[in-house]
Amino acid sequence: MPGIAVYPGSFDPITYGHINIIDRGLKIFDSIIIAISYNQSGKKSFFSLEERVSMVQETFKDEKRVVVETFKGLLVDYLQSRNAKIILRGLRTVADFEFELQMSLANKKMSGNIETVFMMTEGKYSFLSSSIIKEILLLGGPVKDLVPDVVVKLFNERLKERKSDIVSWE
Ligand code: ADP
Repeated sequence: MPGIAVYPGSFDPITYGHINIIDRGLKIFDSIIIAISYNQSGKKSFFSLEERVSMVQETFKDEKRVVVETFKGLLVDYLQSRNAKIILRGLRTVADFEFELQMSLANKKMSGNIETVFMMTEGKYSFLSSSIIKEILLLGGPVKDLVPDVVVKLFNERLKERKSDIVSWE
């Protein structure tokens, strides 16, 4: 199944769970656009959009088949603007399944020619989410093998800048 796949998400921040899906996706698709969303209503990000983009770009700087973009508005409209027909998503848990099923059916209803392709998480990443990473980082726990170094570096810089013990995010 060649072609372009769009891998959308918040990537707040990117983790090895995401990276694993992208690496495996590159064995199936010719190229992958990592589409970082910035208008998720009610979802406040810890990292700014620019920071999220720069961490993903740094991670894939040597992979020519990966493009990093941002989008707002409907995902199906964004796909249309890129002439893409495939959405790539990862699945970890039953909770993911329920949400993803609803999203993929809604997208199908809005745009009948778009297909969502799901890839199961690799077992060792099944617990891994951006939220749990932020929790571990805040509490000073080890995140080796869970996120690229650039994420740890930027997180620590932001934390120092905020000069407060209170850090909130969704
Ligand atoms: P969103 O806010 O849209 O859920 P995320 O950045 O949290 O965006 O996730 C983007 C995609 O990556 C989703 O399909 C999500 O299920 C998948 N994903 C996140 N973490 C993992 C993981 N550890 N293993 C497999 N897929 C994952």
